[in-house]
Amino acid sequence: MVTMTGSLLSQADPEVAASIGRERRRQIEGIELIASENYASAAVLEAVGTVLTNKYAEGLPGKRYYGGCEFVDEIEVLAIERAKQLFGAEHANVQPHSGASANLAAYFSLLNPGDKILGLNLSEGGHLTHGKDVNFSGRFFDAHFYGVDPVTGLIDYDQVLAKAREVRPQAIICGASAYSRIIDFKRFREIADDVGAFLFADIAHIAGLVAGGEHPSPVGYAHITTSTTHKTLRGPRSGFIMTSEEFGAGIDKTVFPGMHGGPLMHVIAGKAVAFREALQPSFKDYARQIVLNAKAMASAFMERGFPIISGGTDNHLLLVDVGSIGISGRKAERLLDSVGISTNRNTIPGDTRSALLGSGVRIGTPAVTTRGFDEADCVQVVDFITRALRAPDDDVALARIGAEVKELTSRFPVPGIDRDALD
Ligand SMILES: *Cc1c(COP(=O)(O)O)cnc(C)c1O
Repeated sequence: MVTMTGSLLSQADPEVAASIGRERRRQIEGIELIASENYASAAVLEAVGTVLTNKYAEGLPGKRYYGGCEFVDEIEVLAIERAKQLFGAEHANVQPHSGASANLAAYFSLLNPGDKILGLNLSEGGHLTHGKDVNFSGRFFDAHFYGVDPVTGLIDYDQVLAKAREVRPQAIICGASAYSRIIDFKRFREIADDVGAFLFADIAHIAGLVAGGEHPSPVGYAHITTSTTHKTLRGPRSGFIMTSEEFGAGIDKTVFPGMHGGPLMHVIAGKAVAFREALQPSFKDYARQIVLNAKAMASAFMERGFPIISGGTDNHLLLVDVGSIGISGRKAERLLDSVGISTNRNTIPGDTRSALLGSGVRIGTPAVTTRGFDEADCVQVVDFITRALRAPDDDVALARIGAEVKELTSRFPVPGIDRDALD
């Protein structure tokens, strides 16, 4: 297969092929702890690398603006039906190109420019698309924010209610990019109802946990649920939207012709494959192991003297307070990169450092769990991390940790990467 071995590509374009080869090596030799990343299956990769990219299919299955759509129609119907089945949703639109464009469609379906929105502050775990001033959500809408309790690190629902009553937003957005606890969607809906707001749930990060039964679902509580497909859900890089019959036609119209022209049919095929994978019983085991691994890492960090925001985790991620040993999140991120461990810096509740530096490191287990890491392997990784963070200037110690990282990862495959075919 062309996309796997790169042989045709390396003849046609040696430069791009060489960079992809280096990236392939990076993905298999390093430890991937970026909480929003994962490894799509070989089947998903294959679907995305197909001739479906050649096809224009503006519109919806059976209602296209181009001829020759009979086969892509079959694929999009499969993706829609599987998404609905997986999450118990009445209506799904699988065309958004990303999580951000899924959110854009949600806002533009039920809100008017200038309306008030209320979302979780970016610096306390929210997402750019939940009202940040530099993002469309903060430019088109009058954005207000709730935060987390600076002491517990938890969403304080009484504070959310008070803020909602003060702001009277047209929509409340719940869901997060860096929050390690269960989100109470039922409570959010009660708050939304109290102030007459729509509730948007953005499960970009936790979709795989929701699908696998490890996190309560917002479907049935939120008026619109948006998500990515490439994080815990382990599909191709993309997004989708779920809603009730009532809002379905409005969402579909906002996505097309409201936002884009042709959908990415090769990516929709990848989404269909990923939804099918997530419907298998083994996906429940995967989701459970993600959470077990995250809990094991949180305990191991705390045992080694590193505070974890909120004191632990219920999901796939943890926020480690590295400011506690006097280094910034950025310094920690760079140091870990140098030993082959990918993480990302993050601000922590009540952070005194800027967003550029941060005092925290966000760590997620979806990708290593896909490779087959269990709790013991994850504790080993915590050991690498804490040793590296405590020896920032010790090149010998760092080199040794780097070698141990390679040794550990050599025992675990990555879907779609043939270790023996690395160049
Ligand atoms: C990742 C994420 C998004 C955006 O997804 P993209 O595909 O990167 O646009 C939206 N919302 C939340 C909560 C996210 O974590």
